[in-house]
Formats: sequence, C-alpha cells, structure tokens
Amino acid sequence: MNQTSEHHKVAVLGSTGSIGRNALAVIDALPGFQLFGITGHKNIELLLSQTRSHRPAKVVVSDSQFQGQLPDVAGTEFSTGPESIVGLATHPDIDTVVAAIVGRAGLESSIAAVRAGKRLALANKETLVVAGDLITGLAAESGTQILPVDSEHSAIFQCIQAGAEREVSRLVLTASGGPFRDFDQQQLTAVTVEHALAHPTWQMGPKISVDSATMMNKALEIIEARWLFDIDPAKISVVIHPQSIIHSMVEFCDGSVISQMGPPDMRLPIQYSLTFPNRVPGNSPRMDFCREHVLELFPPDFERFPALELGFEVARVGGTSGAVLNAANEAAVAAFLNKQISFIDIVAACREILDNHQFEADPSFETLLRLDLWAREEINKWIAC
Ligand code: NAD
Ligand code: MG
Repeated sequence: MNQTSEHHKVAVLGSTGSIGRNALAVIDALPGFQLFGITGHKNIELLLSQTRSHRPAKVVVSDSQFQGQLPDVAGTEFSTGPESIVGLATHPDIDTVVAAIVGRAGLESSIAAVRAGKRLALANKETLVVAGDLITGLAAESGTQILPVDSEHSAIFQCIQAGAEREVSRLVLTASGGPFRDFDQQQLTAVTVEHALAHPTWQMGPKISVDSATMMNKALEIIEARWLFDIDPAKISVVIHPQSIIHSMVEFCDGSVISQMGPPDMRLPIQYSLTFPNRVPGNSPRMDFCREHVLELFPPDFERFPALELGFEVARVGGTSGAVLNAANEAAVAAFLNKQISFIDIVAACREILDNHQFEADPSFETLLRLDLWAREEINKWIAC
C-alpha cells in the first residue's frame, strides 16, 4: 500500500472490457480504494463516460491516432499510445494494477508493473501463457505479488490456504464445458460465430468466449496454473462442471478436497485480488441456498476438445511453446470471428503451428516476441490456403 496516502490507488488496464467494467464496479463499492487510472482501446465513448463518472487522475487510449482528439475533463490527464499504458502501470502513486487487457497486448504493461513492484491483479492470463517463466522470475526478484483474477485460479488461491504448500497433491480446475459441451464432431464442424459467442453461464469478451467454446480457455488456464502455483502439470486435472458454481478445487495429501463456490460472477475474484489477505462485504452476489442446486461433475472429452491436450503439453514442455500457442490461438480466433476460418480450424491450426515451430527450452524475451509474430503469420498462411 502507498505509504503517503490512506487510499489504496488502483489502475485498471482495459477498463472498457468485461473484467474492466466489473473492476470499476468493485472499486466503487470498496472503502479505502481509489481508482487512479484507466485505459481503453477502441471504445472511446465508454472510456469517456467512465472518465466523467469515476474522475480518475489518468486516462490512456492505447491507439496513438486519438492524440489531440480527446476532450478536456477537469482533474484528468489524457495520454495515448502503448508506452503511456506502461507509464500508468508503473506510476509512483499506484499500489495495484488490474491487468484486464485481452491477449498479448497486455504483456508489456504486466511485466512493467511487476518490475516496478506493483501488486498485479492479473486477469490477462495470456501474459503468463506467453512468458510465465520470465514474469514469475521477475515477481520473485521484485518481491511483488501476482494475485489471480481468473475465477478458477482465485478459487485455487483461496483453497490452497487450507494447508501447507507441500501438502497439496492436486489442483482441479473446473470448466463449464462451454456452449458445445454435448456437441458431436459433426455438430462442432457447423458451429457459427453467433453460437460461439453465447456462453451459457458467463458474460465475457468475444475472445475468451470463443476460447471457452473450443476449451482453449481451459488449456490457457492449465498453463496459467502451472506458473501461478509453480506446480507440476501432472498434478493438474480438469473437470467439467456445467453450473459454474464450484470455481475450482484443491486436493491435499490426506485426500481432503477443498472447493471454493459462489455464483458465476467475476466481482468476487476481482475484489479478493484487491483486498487479500482481507475479506470485506463488497457487492458480489450471494448463493441462494433456499432454492435447489444441482452440481454436476464430469470428466472432459479430450477427443472432441483437443485444445485440452495442447494445454497440458505446453504446460509440460514450457520454453517457446506458450508464446506460439497463444499467438496462433489469438490470430485463429480473430480469423474465426472474421468468418475466415471454421470453428474446428482454430485448434487444428494451433496444433499444426505448435508442432512446426523451432522449439527453444530457455528463450529470451526477444525470441518469444519473434515467435509470436511468426505464429500470427502462419495463421495468415493457413487462411490463404
Ligand atoms: P474484453 O474484450 O471484454 O476487454 C478487453 C479490454 O482490453 C478492453 O478494455 C479493450 O479496450 C482492451 N484492449 C483490447 N485490445 C487492446 C490493445 N491492443 N491494446 C490495449 N488495450 C486493448 O475482454 P475481457 O473478457 O474483459 O477479458 C480481459 C482479460 O481477462 C482476458 O485476458 C481474459 O482471458 C481474462 N479473463 C476474463 C474473464 C471474463 O469473465 N471476462 C474471466 C477470466 C479471465
Ligand atoms: Mg477462468
């Protein structure tokens, strides 16, 4: 916490997105927390409306073309460009950065926040998928904490406190299974963009909605868990839980399984990432135990959802594979949303590009960025075929 002020000052990177909007609602309801800065990409109208209603000191538009086009708002300083996002994430007055930019675009600001010793409330799982080794190393050096916002990882983080680290025998990530949980192979080949964006239990941005439908989201979360909890991927399991009430579980060495539950709503994991190690009332919805709940658990189908195996594989081999998988997936999802490739092509392309890349076990940051660009180029070739 910033010693010069009684308020805990927070920057929300990606405030116009689904996590960002929830983060602003959480901060509004938390006494002692103050929104210091926000960033947005294309939805300038919403960013300006957030500026007027929340009055942050700093507002950044990532696209430099908006330079000079932003209005005057008393008490707010506007800036543009990716380097201004990094400037906000490392600002001396900030205590915590909520990393809610989607995809690889959030990488530099997350790294900068960790280097600057800020508490990082991390929604942007792609950051850890691309460069988990590097970022967890930097966090250990700067003594900063990376607090998970992803609901499964927040759940594990909460459950894991029930025992000592050496007593953990398994992390069990729950997955809703997405909208196509019961689809056969033929139905999966006919999935449209509109179907893929309609998630049964969560309201999310378009990229993560498609990731949930392919189950690539769970693959990315396996890799995220591997880095966040420094655990052998052989000790990570995935279980399908369509109701999204059990957010994940930890099994301890005596066989006891501790789970964390709540309605499917991101406000609680966002809030916990800000208030840890404390709990405060906040504005998250509560379970209603006066009505019946049926909680189902099923093993996942690795054949219909081959993304899962990619997640375990990348978590096992590490090196350059996370950066390649992430970039191929981001570009493939964008191509699917543009109706340039089919739904099942997303994971097929990722598998092919991952298998064809020049693997390095201990890559530099520059190598990760080079392979990120290479994998995106490979998707362009796939589209052209
Ligand atoms: P979203 O698409 O709703 O919002 C993305 C945000 O990133 C927006 O504010 C947008 O302006 C910003 N952005 C996009 N491209 C950018 C760029 N090139 N440069 C700078 N900013 C850019 O996404 P979301 O659903 O809020 O997800 C955000 C992150 O949180 C993702 O990494 C996702 O995997 C993760 N996450 C989301 C949820 C959820 O419930 N939505 C749950 C867990 C984790
Ligand atoms: Mg999740």
